[in-house]
Amino acid sequence: MAPQIAHSSSIHPDNADVSVAQDGLFENLPVAVYTCDKNGVFTSFNTEAVELWGTAPVLGKDQFLGSWKMLKLNGEPLPVEETPMAISLRTGKSMSGERFLIERKDGSRVTVAPYPVPLYDTNGNLSGGMNTLINVTKIAEAEHKQALLAAIVNTSDDAIISKNLDGIISSWNVAAERMFGYTAKEAINRHISMLLPEERMEEENVIIDHIKRGLKVDHFETIRIAKDGTEIPISLTISPVTDARGKIVGASKIARSIKERLFSEEKQALLAAIVETSEDAIISKTLDGIISTWNSGAEKMFGYTADEAIGKHISILIPSDRNQEEILILSSIKNGMRVDHFETIRVHKSGKQIPISLSISPIMDSSGKIIGASKIARDISLQLQAQSESKRLYEQIKELNNKKDEFIGIASHELKTPLTSIYGYLQILDRLVNDETGVKFVNKTLIQVRKLTALVSDMLDVSKIEAGKLEFNPKPFEMKALIHEVIELLEQTFPNRSILCSFQSDDTMILADDRRIEQVLINLFTNALKYSPATGLVEVSVFLKEDNMVVSVKDQGAGIPADKLPHIFSKFYRADDASRVSGLGIGLYISHQIIERHHGQLWVENTGSTGSTFCFSLPV
Ligand code: ADP
Repeated sequence: MAPQIAHSSSIHPDNADVSVAQDGLFENLPVAVYTCDKNGVFTSFNTEAVELWGTAPVLGKDQFLGSWKMLKLNGEPLPVEETPMAISLRTGKSMSGERFLIERKDGSRVTVAPYPVPLYDTNGNLSGGMNTLINVTKIAEAEHKQALLAAIVNTSDDAIISKNLDGIISSWNVAAERMFGYTAKEAINRHISMLLPEERMEEENVIIDHIKRGLKVDHFETIRIAKDGTEIPISLTISPVTDARGKIVGASKIARSIKERLFSEEKQALLAAIVETSEDAIISKTLDGIISTWNSGAEKMFGYTADEAIGKHISILIPSDRNQEEILILSSIKNGMRVDHFETIRVHKSGKQIPISLSISPIMDSSGKIIGASKIARDISLQLQAQSESKRLYEQIKELNNKKDEFIGIASHELKTPLTSIYGYLQILDRLVNDETGVKFVNKTLIQVRKLTALVSDMLDVSKIEAGKLEFNPKPFEMKALIHEVIELLEQTFPNRSILCSFQSDDTMILADDRRIEQVLINLFTNALKYSPATGLVEVSVFLKEDNMVVSVKDQGAGIPADKLPHIFSKFYRADDASRVSGLGIGLYISHQIIERHHGQLWVENTGSTGSTFCFSLPV
């Protein structure tokens, strides 16, 4: 809209010094100028002012505001009495340079810097004022842009550096400081070569050559050196910097660290290599069951090439009677759950069925949304074969073992009958024989027959234990008396050995099967004597510990090596060095069973070069 007044207008206020407000005096000035009386009422303005305000005030009427509105820079409205002209008239002083916004009726805004000057008449009295309004909109915009750019440069994660054509650094942002370790102060004015590895110095010449020809260098991947000497893989983008006349004066370079990208590429490559070399089939599929990746393990296992399988539905691998499985698997996956070691059957391209173990995990995108499933299938035919083979072998061994136990049972039973007769006849013979030699031989034979009978009974006990038929008849008895009985019995077999006894109390009454406990005592005492030197002393002590009676048998033998200890209570186990001493390796096994059946414990302690101590406890 054309302004009401197309050229400068003025009225002459009473007493006003009109010398500056003469018609046409500032009409052609390239800046907005107006005058007012001492009350701020407009007395003249030029065309530039109308241009700036977007309207023309009514001379002799409008006060202070030539435009629609005046605002502070932060957008708040500026009260009339705070306008620079009002202040200047009030204080009688000129003002300069503060910036304000002028809003025109059409809503557009301009930034102005008013320079109001108070005017005085010849008598020195304030007569009005003159204001020059400089339109600084473009400067403000440029400053804003500049500040914005500086903020972008400084908040960027990329190092942004500028240099002149001689390679001297002229600016250095915060990210450059972070990436290369030099502060801006340390870097500016130094040559860019401080970042170049020795073997890459030539790169700089090539780059500068490009820049001088006005060419950009885009995403150039290279290595630079940080202040601490570490090598940083970066991607460089370098553009020429031109002055106002378009002359190339330097280069700006943006360096992005690609360490993480290279690392993730490396990781990616490693993972891909693992997947490719895996013997397992590794397959991924969408949530609709469409195959999206297929490794060489899958190709080997199922017979389809990747080209044949990718894009097809996973059901090509599923036997028709197992289709339901896939529905269940997919619903687990959709709920974010894994399926682990699920043993099932899948079908080879040839139709052959393959037993496999499946592990399936959900695949998530970067926002954590489930987008598919990865499945690892392992062919378990060999494993199943091995399992059934070992099951077969186990059954076979079990059967043989049963047969062996059965044989031992029958054999020992059969041996026992003639042995009992031999023993009986020997006892009769013992009474009939009169000559000394005869008595001696009969006694020796009796000892051997007793030994043989003990061995046969032990074997019979083993088969009874195996069959769960070992019987117990508990009754109260004195442990002390039983121990003395056993010692007396053993004196015949080990005539020159001594067994020392100590009893914590004279009351050693206990409720147990005395014949079975006797068996345990014979075994422990015999072992203590057998496995220690002829001069070795055996000490037996009986004491109460908590609610148990403990019997301990200490010898001075060679002890039992630590690696053999876990086995000594097993059936038929004998330590390697025991072969010099006769035995079947069943005494401790039977003793252990007997004590356990009495709810007690049998153990060995302090075994070593100074001998072993075998102990058993029985609840009192
Ligand atoms: P056997 O004495 O008939 O071999 P046992 O079952 O009584 O069978 O003992 C198992 C094994 O434990 C013995 O062969 C021997 O190696 C070891 N052993 C048992 N008692 C002692 C001991 N007092 N000192 C050293 N070794 C022993």
